[in-house]
Amino acid sequence: MVPFAYLAAPNLRSAISRATRSSRAEFIAGGTDMLQLLQERVRAPEELIDLNGLPLSDIEITADGIRIGALARMAQVVSDSRVREQFPAVTQALLASASPQIRNMASVGGNLLQRTRCLYFRDVATPCNKREPGSGCSALDGENRLNAILGGSSQCIAAYPGDLAIALLALDAKVEIAGQSGQRVIPLDELHRLPDDAPHVDTTLRPGDIITAVSISTSDFARRSCFLKIRDRASFEWALASAAVALSMDHGKIRHARIAVGGVATKPWRLRHVEQALTDRELHADLFRRVAALAADGAQPRTQNGFKAELLKRVVERALRQVGETA
Ligand SMILES: Cc1cc2nc3c(=O)[nH]c(=O)nc-3n(C[C@H](O)[C@H](O)[C@H](O)COP(=O)(O)OP(=O)(O)OC[C@H]3O[C@@H](n4cnc5c(N)ncnc54)[C@H](O)[C@@H]3O)c2cc1C
Ligand code: SF4
Repeated sequence: MVPFAYLAAPNLRSAISRATRSSRAEFIAGGTDMLQLLQERVRAPEELIDLNGLPLSDIEITADGIRIGALARMAQVVSDSRVREQFPAVTQALLASASPQIRNMASVGGNLLQRTRCLYFRDVATPCNKREPGSGCSALDGENRLNAILGGSSQCIAAYPGDLAIALLALDAKVEIAGQSGQRVIPLDELHRLPDDAPHVDTTLRPGDIITAVSISTSDFARRSCFLKIRDRASFEWALASAAVALSMDHGKIRHARIAVGGVATKPWRLRHVEQALTDRELHADLFRRVAALAADGAQPRTQNGFKAELLKRVVERALRQVGETA
């Protein structure tokens, strides 16, 4: 590990200003991803700013829903009955993530910002545009079984790895951010960016920005939501393909549908065209099969990850059936 300075941030303001001043300072929360990145020398910050002393771990009921502090641990959110009842997809996504030990340590903010599991990103002996801009992308013609089939560019096809963000995207969650110019709130859909020609920039966060909370509004569709994940083994593994689905119904018809998918795209990915195909339609198993067939439209598989297109259609159909059964 490369030596670094350590600062336990005494308050939000000093954490932001310290991180804004140095381009080589980074935040740490639970450390479950950051420590791996340091050990593997993927990251070598001059200073680590520890956010754990900040008062950002409450889960609060608000006028229109729930607000989860960025330092709330994944396990804390899993055990919250309000989240389980109002936003089942969130609880299910967290339970399908990592292991109980990691969920005890890992924070909600850190989860959203975890880095890709692309093999080459985490192997400093290989070229990788995301880790070292301009060095090339080893995955394009290399080991790309785990990589994205949607949202890639000629520079990077790394899949976004997290599960929680997929459930939050389907539920139209918002992210609260504190930065040098004050507080702002953005839709979760605007937090992560496509790789385009700058794959080393994962998000739209500015230098010094800290995620302070995630908020979700209560709604009919949030209550009728689910998260499903297909992976190589039953636990302790990231998604090959996942789907978060939410439906709101009106007299046997689908009024609104929300579908977000993970494991297959370079950022949390919303299937708006599939949502559209469900709107105002009668709930029917055959409908789910027909619309799920559209899920991989526009996919650009590489040599080893073509199987993800079929997996994606199946996980979307299964998730739709699962939510449909409760309607
Ligand atoms: C073996 C293993 C299996 C796993 N399986 C899964 C899985 O199946 N699904 C899944 O979703 N995840 C999985 N994970 C990833 C795990 O969930 C993340 O590592 C964890 O959620 C990161 O949270 P953290 O608090 O530990 O973040 P840290 O490691 O402390 O930080 C992660 C990143 O976020 C930044 N950061 C942290 N908090 C903030 C904040 N509030 N504002 C701004 N920046 C911040 C840090 O600077 C860093 O870049 C797995 C991890 C391991 C080790
Ligand atoms: S896909 Fe992205 S993360 Fe993976 S090697 Fe290519 S540039 Fe690096």
